[in-house]
Amino acid sequence: MFVTDRRKSAGHAHLEILGKRAALDGREKRSLDRYRSGYEGELEYDRVFDEVGHEPMYVFRDIWLGIGDSKVQLDALIVADNLLIVNEIKNYSGHYFYENGIWKVRNQQISEDPVSQISTAANKLLRLRYESGVQFEVQKEIVFVNPYMILGPTDYKNVELFVMRNRLKQYFRNFHNNTFGMSAKVLAEEVARHIISPPHPAPSADISRVKLGMSCYKCQSFDVSKKRFWSECRECGYTEPFERLVVRSAIEFSVLLPDEKVTCRGIHEFLGKSVNYQTVQRRLSRYFVKKGDSRKSHYIVEGCDLKKILTGANYDSAYEQDIEYMSEKRGEIFRKYLKV
Ligand SMILES: [Zn+2]
Repeated sequence: MFVTDRRKSAGHAHLEILGKRAALDGREKRSLDRYRSGYEGELEYDRVFDEVGHEPMYVFRDIWLGIGDSKVQLDALIVADNLLIVNEIKNYSGHYFYENGIWKVRNQQISEDPVSQISTAANKLLRLRYESGVQFEVQKEIVFVNPYMILGPTDYKNVELFVMRNRLKQYFRNFHNNTFGMSAKVLAEEVARHIISPPHPAPSADISRVKLGMSCYKCQSFDVSKKRFWSECRECGYTEPFERLVVRSAIEFSVLLPDEKVTCRGIHEFLGKSVNYQTVQRRLSRYFVKKGDSRKSHYIVEGCDLKKILTGANYDSAYEQDIEYMSEKRGEIFRKYLKV
Protein backbone atom coordinates (compact mmCIF):
# COMPACT_ATOMS: atom_id res chain seq x y z
CA MET A 1 0.00 0.00 0.00
CA PHE A 2 1.07 3.56 -0.59
CA VAL A 3 1.72 5.06 2.84
CA THR A 4 2.50 8.62 1.77
CA ASP A 5 1.19 10.81 -1.04
CA ARG A 6 3.37 12.06 -3.80
CA ARG A 7 3.43 15.84 -3.99
CA LYS A 8 5.06 18.42 -6.15
CA SER A 9 8.04 19.89 -4.36
CA ALA A 10 7.74 23.43 -3.00
CA GLY A 11 10.02 24.72 -5.78
CA HIS A 12 7.92 22.98 -8.43
CA ALA A 13 4.55 24.20 -7.10
CA HIS A 14 5.98 27.71 -6.81
CA LEU A 15 7.08 27.88 -10.44
CA GLU A 16 3.84 26.30 -11.72
CA ILE A 17 1.80 29.02 -10.04
CA LEU A 18 4.26 31.83 -10.71
CA GLY A 19 4.09 30.92 -14.41
CA LYS A 20 0.35 31.62 -14.37
CA ARG A 21 0.74 35.08 -12.88
CA ALA A 22 4.14 36.31 -14.12
CA ALA A 23 6.43 35.89 -17.12
CA LEU A 24 9.07 33.30 -16.26
CA ASP A 25 12.67 34.00 -17.28
CA GLY A 26 14.75 31.43 -19.16
CA ARG A 27 16.28 29.87 -16.06
CA GLU A 28 12.87 29.52 -14.38
CA LYS A 29 11.40 27.97 -17.52
CA ARG A 30 14.18 25.38 -17.74
CA SER A 31 13.84 24.63 -14.09
CA LEU A 32 10.06 24.19 -14.40
CA ASP A 33 10.56 21.85 -17.36
CA ARG A 34 12.93 19.75 -15.28
CA TYR A 35 10.52 19.63 -12.34
CA ARG A 36 7.62 18.67 -14.61
CA SER A 37 9.54 15.94 -16.32
CA GLY A 38 10.76 14.50 -13.01
CA TYR A 39 7.29 14.60 -11.50
CA GLU A 40 5.71 12.97 -14.57
CA GLY A 41 8.29 10.20 -14.27
CA GLU A 42 7.36 9.63 -10.64
CA LEU A 43 3.64 9.48 -11.53
CA GLU A 44 4.42 6.95 -14.24
CA TYR A 45 6.33 4.84 -11.70
CA ASP A 46 3.30 4.96 -9.36
CA ARG A 47 0.95 4.08 -12.19
CA VAL A 48 2.87 0.97 -13.19
CA PHE A 49 3.29 -0.01 -9.54
CA ASP A 50 -0.49 0.35 -9.07
CA GLU A 51 -1.05 -1.86 -12.08
CA VAL A 52 1.21 -4.62 -10.77
CA GLY A 53 -0.11 -4.26 -7.21
CA HIS A 54 1.55 -3.37 -3.91
CA GLU A 55 -1.06 -4.26 -1.33
CA PRO A 56 1.03 -6.13 1.27
CA MET A 57 3.99 -3.74 1.09
CA TYR A 58 4.58 -0.45 2.80
CA VAL A 59 5.49 2.01 0.06
CA PHE A 60 6.70 5.45 1.10
CA ARG A 61 6.73 7.96 -1.74
CA ASP A 62 8.67 11.17 -1.93
CA ILE A 63 9.81 11.46 1.67
CA TRP A 64 12.56 13.22 3.54
CA LEU A 65 14.13 11.32 6.42
CA GLY A 66 16.22 12.78 9.21
CA ILE A 67 18.71 10.15 10.36
CA GLY A 68 21.18 11.31 12.98
CA ASP A 69 22.42 14.65 11.75
CA SER A 70 21.88 13.88 8.09
CA LYS A 71 18.88 14.23 5.83
CA VAL A 72 17.94 12.25 2.78
CA GLN A 73 15.23 12.53 0.13
CA LEU A 74 13.83 9.31 -1.32
CA ASP A 75 11.64 9.00 -4.42
CA ALA A 76 10.31 5.62 -3.29
CA LEU A 77 11.05 3.33 -0.36
CA ILE A 78 9.53 -0.14 -0.16
CA VAL A 79 9.49 -1.87 3.20
CA ALA A 80 9.49 -5.68 3.48
CA ASP A 81 10.50 -7.99 6.34
CA ASN A 82 14.04 -6.99 7.29
CA LEU A 83 14.50 -5.20 3.99
CA LEU A 84 14.35 -1.66 2.67
CA ILE A 85 14.29 -1.22 -1.11
CA VAL A 86 15.15 2.30 -2.20
CA ASN A 87 14.38 3.55 -5.70
CA GLU A 88 15.69 6.62 -7.44
CA ILE A 89 13.30 7.48 -10.27
CA LYS A 90 14.62 9.10 -13.45
CA ASN A 91 12.61 10.22 -16.44
CA TYR A 92 15.55 10.51 -18.85
CA SER A 93 14.83 10.23 -22.52
CA GLY A 94 17.35 9.96 -25.32
CA HIS A 95 20.60 8.11 -25.75
CA TYR A 96 22.67 8.06 -22.56
CA PHE A 97 26.20 6.88 -21.94
CA TYR A 98 27.56 5.99 -18.56
CA GLU A 99 31.27 5.38 -18.08
CA ASN A 100 33.65 5.90 -15.16
CA GLY A 101 31.02 7.64 -13.09
CA ILE A 102 30.17 10.12 -15.83
CA TRP A 103 26.78 10.39 -17.52
CA LYS A 104 26.55 11.84 -20.98
CA VAL A 105 23.67 12.62 -23.30
CA ARG A 106 24.30 13.90 -26.84
CA ASN A 107 27.97 13.88 -25.84
CA GLN A 108 27.32 16.42 -23.07
CA GLN A 109 28.09 15.52 -19.50
CA ILE A 110 25.06 15.92 -17.21
CA SER A 111 25.37 17.44 -13.79
CA GLU A 112 23.81 14.67 -11.75
CA ASP A 113 25.00 11.15 -11.14
CA PRO A 114 22.11 8.84 -10.18
CA VAL A 115 24.58 6.10 -9.16
CA SER A 116 26.19 8.24 -6.49
CA GLN A 117 22.76 9.63 -5.49
CA ILE A 118 21.36 6.17 -4.82
CA SER A 119 24.54 5.01 -3.04
CA THR A 120 24.45 8.01 -0.72
CA ALA A 121 20.77 7.37 0.01
CA ALA A 122 21.39 3.68 0.73
CA ASN A 123 24.32 4.47 3.05
CA LYS A 124 22.21 6.93 4.99
CA LEU A 125 19.50 4.31 5.37
CA LEU A 126 22.07 1.90 6.80
CA ARG A 127 22.67 4.42 9.57
CA LEU A 128 19.06 3.90 10.58
CA ARG A 129 20.09 0.39 11.64
CA TYR A 130 22.44 1.77 14.27
CA GLU A 131 20.00 4.44 15.34
CA SER A 132 17.00 2.19 15.73
CA GLY A 133 18.56 -1.17 16.59
CA VAL A 134 16.21 -2.78 14.04
CA GLN A 135 18.00 -5.16 11.70
CA PHE A 136 17.48 -4.92 7.95
CA GLU A 137 19.26 -4.98 4.61
CA VAL A 138 19.15 -2.21 2.04
CA GLN A 139 18.55 -2.89 -1.64
CA LYS A 140 18.90 -0.07 -4.15
CA GLU A 141 17.95 0.44 -7.78
CA ILE A 142 17.65 3.34 -10.19
CA VAL A 143 14.43 3.12 -12.18
CA PHE A 144 14.43 4.68 -15.64
CA VAL A 145 10.72 5.04 -16.36
CA ASN A 146 10.90 6.58 -19.80
CA PRO A 147 10.56 4.06 -22.67
CA TYR A 148 12.52 6.44 -24.91
CA MET A 149 15.69 6.13 -22.92
CA ILE A 150 18.51 4.18 -24.44
CA LEU A 151 21.49 3.34 -22.29
CA GLY A 152 24.78 2.32 -23.72
CA PRO A 153 27.48 1.64 -24.05
CA THR A 154 28.28 1.54 -20.35
CA ASP A 155 31.12 -0.05 -18.46
CA TYR A 156 28.48 -2.40 -16.97
CA LYS A 157 30.06 -2.10 -13.55
CA ASN A 158 26.87 -0.77 -12.06
CA VAL A 159 24.47 -2.26 -14.53
CA GLU A 160 22.68 -4.34 -11.88
CA LEU A 161 21.53 -1.04 -10.36
CA PHE A 162 19.58 -0.05 -13.47
CA VAL A 163 15.96 -0.96 -14.10
CA MET A 164 14.87 0.01 -17.60
CA ARG A 165 11.23 0.65 -18.55
CA ASN A 166 10.78 -2.66 -20.34
CA ARG A 167 11.74 -4.55 -17.18
CA LEU A 168 9.76 -2.41 -14.76
CA LYS A 169 6.68 -4.62 -14.36
CA GLN A 170 8.82 -7.68 -13.78
CA TYR A 171 10.90 -5.72 -11.31
CA PHE A 172 7.78 -4.77 -9.31
CA ARG A 173 6.46 -8.33 -9.50
CA ASN A 174 9.69 -9.59 -7.94
CA PHE A 175 8.99 -7.49 -4.85
CA HIS A 176 6.22 -9.97 -4.08
CA ASN A 177 8.85 -12.66 -3.48
CA ASN A 178 9.58 -10.92 -0.18
CA THR A 179 7.44 -11.36 2.91
CA PHE A 180 5.56 -8.53 4.60
CA GLY A 181 4.84 -9.49 8.17
CA MET A 182 5.38 -8.10 11.62
CA SER A 183 9.00 -7.06 11.07
CA ALA A 184 8.01 -5.09 7.96
CA LYS A 185 5.40 -3.32 10.07
CA VAL A 186 7.92 -2.49 12.80
CA LEU A 187 10.42 -1.29 10.20
CA ALA A 188 7.77 0.86 8.46
CA GLU A 189 6.91 2.46 11.79
CA GLU A 190 10.59 3.19 12.35
CA VAL A 191 10.81 4.83 8.90
CA ALA A 192 7.65 6.86 9.59
CA ARG A 193 9.13 8.13 12.85
CA HIS A 194 12.08 9.60 10.94
CA ILE A 195 10.05 11.51 8.33
CA ILE A 196 10.82 15.24 8.40
CA SER A 197 9.52 18.27 6.48
CA PRO A 198 11.52 19.12 3.36
CA PRO A 199 14.51 21.16 4.57
CA HIS A 200 14.60 23.56 1.62
CA PRO A 201 12.63 26.69 2.40
CA ALA A 202 9.90 27.40 -0.11
CA PRO A 203 10.88 30.26 -2.42
CA SER A 204 9.01 33.54 -2.17
CA ALA A 205 7.98 35.58 -5.22
CA ASP A 206 8.64 39.25 -5.78
CA ILE A 207 5.08 40.53 -5.46
CA SER A 208 5.68 43.30 -7.99
CA ARG A 209 6.01 40.59 -10.68
CA VAL A 210 2.75 38.94 -9.75
CA LYS A 211 -0.37 39.89 -11.70
CA LEU A 212 -3.38 40.40 -9.44
CA GLY A 213 -6.98 39.65 -10.33
CA MET A 214 -9.26 36.76 -11.24
CA SER A 215 -7.74 34.27 -13.64
CA CYS A 216 -9.23 31.40 -15.57
CA TYR A 217 -8.52 28.01 -14.02
CA LYS A 218 -8.38 26.34 -17.41
CA CYS A 219 -6.52 28.72 -19.73
CA GLN A 220 -5.01 31.16 -17.21
CA SER A 221 -6.44 34.17 -19.02
CA PHE A 222 -7.18 37.23 -16.91
CA ASP A 223 -9.96 38.20 -19.28
CA VAL A 224 -12.60 36.90 -16.93
CA SER A 225 -16.06 38.31 -16.35
CA LYS A 226 -17.81 38.33 -13.03
CA LYS A 227 -21.24 36.73 -12.80
CA ARG A 228 -23.36 36.63 -9.67
CA PHE A 229 -21.91 33.46 -8.11
CA TRP A 230 -19.18 32.47 -10.50
CA SER A 231 -16.56 33.74 -12.93
CA GLU A 232 -16.64 33.16 -16.65
CA CYS A 233 -13.64 33.25 -18.96
CA ARG A 234 -14.09 35.37 -22.07
CA GLU A 235 -11.35 33.43 -23.85
CA CYS A 236 -12.47 29.84 -23.35
CA GLY A 237 -15.86 30.05 -21.66
CA TYR A 238 -14.78 28.13 -18.54
CA THR A 239 -16.81 28.92 -15.44
CA GLU A 240 -15.69 28.61 -11.84
CA PRO A 241 -17.84 29.20 -8.75
CA PHE A 242 -16.44 31.94 -6.50
CA GLU A 243 -16.31 29.36 -3.75
CA ARG A 244 -13.67 27.32 -5.60
CA LEU A 245 -11.97 30.42 -6.99
CA VAL A 246 -11.39 31.82 -3.50
CA VAL A 247 -9.97 28.54 -2.19
CA ARG A 248 -7.73 28.19 -5.25
CA SER A 249 -6.52 31.77 -4.89
CA ALA A 250 -5.67 31.25 -1.22
CA ILE A 251 -3.57 28.23 -2.21
CA GLU A 252 -1.85 30.19 -4.98
CA PHE A 253 -1.18 33.07 -2.61
CA SER A 254 0.35 30.82 0.06
CA VAL A 255 2.57 29.02 -2.48
CA LEU A 256 3.77 32.26 -4.10
CA LEU A 257 4.27 34.13 -0.83
CA PRO A 258 4.98 31.51 1.85
CA ASP A 259 6.31 34.15 4.26
CA GLU A 260 3.07 36.15 4.14
CA LYS A 261 0.08 35.33 6.27
CA VAL A 262 -3.07 34.37 4.38
CA THR A 263 -5.58 37.01 5.42
CA CYS A 264 -8.96 37.94 4.12
CA ARG A 265 -7.65 41.31 3.01
CA GLY A 266 -4.63 39.72 1.29
CA ILE A 267 -6.77 37.33 -0.77
CA HIS A 268 -9.29 40.06 -1.56
CA GLU A 269 -6.44 42.17 -2.98
CA PHE A 270 -4.84 39.17 -4.67
CA LEU A 271 -8.11 38.77 -6.58
CA GLY A 272 -7.94 42.43 -7.59
CA LYS A 273 -10.90 43.12 -5.26
CA SER A 274 -13.14 41.58 -7.90
CA VAL A 275 -14.82 39.21 -5.46
CA ASN A 276 -16.89 40.62 -2.63
CA TYR A 277 -14.96 40.88 0.67
CA GLN A 278 -17.62 38.99 2.65
CA THR A 279 -17.63 36.17 0.10
CA VAL A 280 -13.85 35.83 0.51
CA GLN A 281 -14.19 35.84 4.28
CA ARG A 282 -16.97 33.24 4.33
CA ARG A 283 -15.11 30.88 2.03
CA LEU A 284 -11.77 31.17 3.79
CA SER A 285 -13.43 30.43 7.13
CA ARG A 286 -15.12 27.37 5.73
CA TYR A 287 -12.05 25.77 4.13
CA PHE A 288 -9.13 26.82 6.32
CA VAL A 289 -8.34 26.87 10.02
CA LYS A 290 -8.40 30.38 11.42
CA LYS A 291 -5.68 31.61 13.76
CA GLY A 292 -5.44 34.75 15.88
CA ASP A 293 -8.11 37.11 17.18
CA SER A 294 -10.74 38.52 14.88
CA ARG A 295 -8.98 41.75 13.90
CA LYS A 296 -5.64 40.16 13.13
CA SER A 297 -6.76 36.70 12.13
CA HIS A 298 -5.19 34.67 9.37
CA TYR A 299 -5.76 31.27 7.83
CA ILE A 300 -3.59 28.17 7.72
CA VAL A 301 -3.29 26.74 4.21
CA GLU A 302 -1.97 23.18 4.37
CA GLY A 303 -0.48 21.89 1.11
CA CYS A 304 -1.47 22.90 -2.39
CA ASP A 305 -3.88 20.15 -3.37
CA LEU A 306 -7.04 22.04 -4.32
CA LYS A 307 -9.19 18.95 -4.69
CA LYS A 308 -8.15 17.56 -1.35
CA ILE A 309 -8.89 20.81 0.47
CA LEU A 310 -12.29 21.14 -1.24
CA THR A 311 -13.42 17.58 -0.61
CA GLY A 312 -12.07 17.75 2.94
CA ALA A 313 -14.74 20.37 3.66
CA ASN A 314 -17.46 18.65 1.55
CA TYR A 315 -17.41 21.12 -1.31
CA ASP A 316 -20.67 20.82 -3.24
CA SER A 317 -21.38 24.07 -5.05
CA ALA A 318 -24.64 24.25 -6.98
CA TYR A 319 -22.80 26.48 -9.49
CA GLU A 320 -20.11 23.92 -10.28
CA GLN A 321 -19.93 23.07 -13.99
CA ASP A 322 -16.66 21.16 -14.05
CA ILE A 323 -17.36 17.47 -13.52
CA GLU A 324 -13.92 17.04 -11.96
CA TYR A 325 -15.02 19.16 -9.02
CA MET A 326 -18.61 18.01 -8.67
CA SER A 327 -19.62 15.93 -5.70
CA GLU A 328 -20.24 12.27 -6.50
CA LYS A 329 -24.00 12.67 -6.43
CA ARG A 330 -24.03 15.83 -8.54
CA GLY A 331 -21.55 14.26 -10.96
CA GLU A 332 -23.77 11.22 -11.36
CA ILE A 333 -26.81 13.32 -12.23
CA PHE A 334 -24.69 15.38 -14.62
CA ARG A 335 -23.38 12.26 -16.38
CA LYS A 336 -26.88 10.83 -16.75
CA TYR A 337 -28.11 14.10 -18.14
CA LEU A 338 -25.31 14.23 -20.69
CA LYS A 339 -25.39 10.44 -21.19
CA VAL A 340 -21.60 10.16 -20.78
ZN1 LIG B 1 -10.18 30.40 -19.97
